[in-house]
Amino acid sequence: MREIHDIHGGIHPPERKSLSRPGELRDAPLPTRLILPLRQHLGVPAKAIVEVGDTVLGGQVLAQAQGVMSVPVHAPTSGTISAIEPRPIAHASGLEDTCIVLETDGADQSIRCEGIPEWQTVAPSLLVERIREAGIAGMGGAGFPTAVKLNPGAAKPIDTLMINGTECEPYITADDTLMQCQADALVEGAAILAYVVGAERVVIGIEDNKPAAISRVTEAVRHTSADIEVASFPTKYPSGGEKQFIEILTGQQVPSGGIPADIGLVCVNPGTAVAAKEAIVDGKPLTHRIVTLTGEALGKPGNVMACIGTPIGDLLGDAALSAGERQRIIHGGPMMGFAVSDLDAPITKITNCLLAPTARELPPPAPAKPCIRCGHCAEACPASLLPQQLYWYARAKDHEQLSEHRLLDCIECGACAYVCPSQIPLVQYYRAAKGQMRDNEQEKRRSDNSRERFEARQTRLEAETLAKEAKRAARKAAAQEKAAQDGVDPIQAAIERAQARKIEQGETP
Ligand code: SF4
Ligand code: SF4
Repeated sequence: MREIHDIHGGIHPPERKSLSRPGELRDAPLPTRLILPLRQHLGVPAKAIVEVGDTVLGGQVLAQAQGVMSVPVHAPTSGTISAIEPRPIAHASGLEDTCIVLETDGADQSIRCEGIPEWQTVAPSLLVERIREAGIAGMGGAGFPTAVKLNPGAAKPIDTLMINGTECEPYITADDTLMQCQADALVEGAAILAYVVGAERVVIGIEDNKPAAISRVTEAVRHTSADIEVASFPTKYPSGGEKQFIEILTGQQVPSGGIPADIGLVCVNPGTAVAAKEAIVDGKPLTHRIVTLTGEALGKPGNVMACIGTPIGDLLGDAALSAGERQRIIHGGPMMGFAVSDLDAPITKITNCLLAPTARELPPPAPAKPCIRCGHCAEACPASLLPQQLYWYARAKDHEQLSEHRLLDCIECGACAYVCPSQIPLVQYYRAAKGQMRDNEQEKRRSDNSRERFEARQTRLEAETLAKEAKRAARKAAAQEKAAQDGVDPIQAAIERAQARKIEQGETP
């Protein structure tokens, strides 16, 4: 029996998970239009390889990856490309981004997919390539390109693959539903990923508020020969943070600024494992995902399997949204999600939940009051940070102190803000400060690069001047040596050469 470790801090907000009936999965209707952003992942956006007017089939590549930190985008169904242009996307910034717009034709025709059912006979590097080509990025919300995660390099050998089935945020039940409805695919996906990274062990960790998922996955594991352990642990928010999850199940801490591979672990979301199984065994790219539609403003909440690119408004309409004028829609959960400003924005590979709460259910935040230095935020912080100090330094834009107080270890879980009696929106300050620090870092890198380029040019010019001088000196020495051999006075010879030059130029000597 695995030893379970407690983490610092954490909170127990109302779960409200039963609202979306975890374990029941229905198909969302095929929308008339899909909007596919070129950037649905962390890193460089994909590059469109189709043009307006092209007809495409489901599974066809619409945009290809640009470099390692990028993933391609595929068509979820058949239809015609009607635009490639900036469109509203679901992002905290509320900005637009380039999207491919696909008018669906209803025929839902797809390209032929070739899987590798005997994946154990294929080199892991080829399977990683398949995963990259299938457009898989972490489906737990971060969107990190999975192929990069599976390739930490020879210097970081992996002994354990961990599947993070915690799903600790209130309301969201997409992973719970996936673990109940696709347990066999999850277990096969876990075995494939363990083979790919060379892990000897697999641990699937699930919080104890999901008994049906625990029993379904345990049963699926019984039918496999792979060495897979299912571990459950007490429910507490935010146990699903990657570093927190690892500490709970292993007692090990990922170093500050490090990654799980630094301690021999790779950690992925259950959705990512299922997507890997579909990419390898069935040859299918990532074009659909499970989304929780929840909140009391929905007449038909639940979990749906939806085409990536479906407009948020279409999904909420199908879930019988009864929207008032000031209806808030949250992308993600109530703790870490953000408000969506435009319902035409589509769901992406990282959309796990759309929350439509009533004002009574989730009242808008009250105006912030001054900090009373109660210290509750520090008690709640799962990363053992000092949120109150971070707040002051963020307000003062003191980036040096923010770095010293490990702002970059903040997982933006919102536990500090949840317990703050002054209702200070602490996470907003941290996000803004992180953005400024990133911008400063980029600016510094840019100016370092131009300084290095300038210095390199100066060094090159100096070297060229020195080389010219050395050549001139060598020529002079050779001439003097020749004159000496010929018995000519070198000074007289130089005078004669100068006079000859003047005559050539038409001057009287
Ligand atoms: S919980 Fe709020 S009021 Fe209390 S110390 Fe932290 S920031 Fe200040
Ligand atoms: S948001 Fe950051 S500072 Fe606040 S509790 Fe979470 S990890 Fe700690």
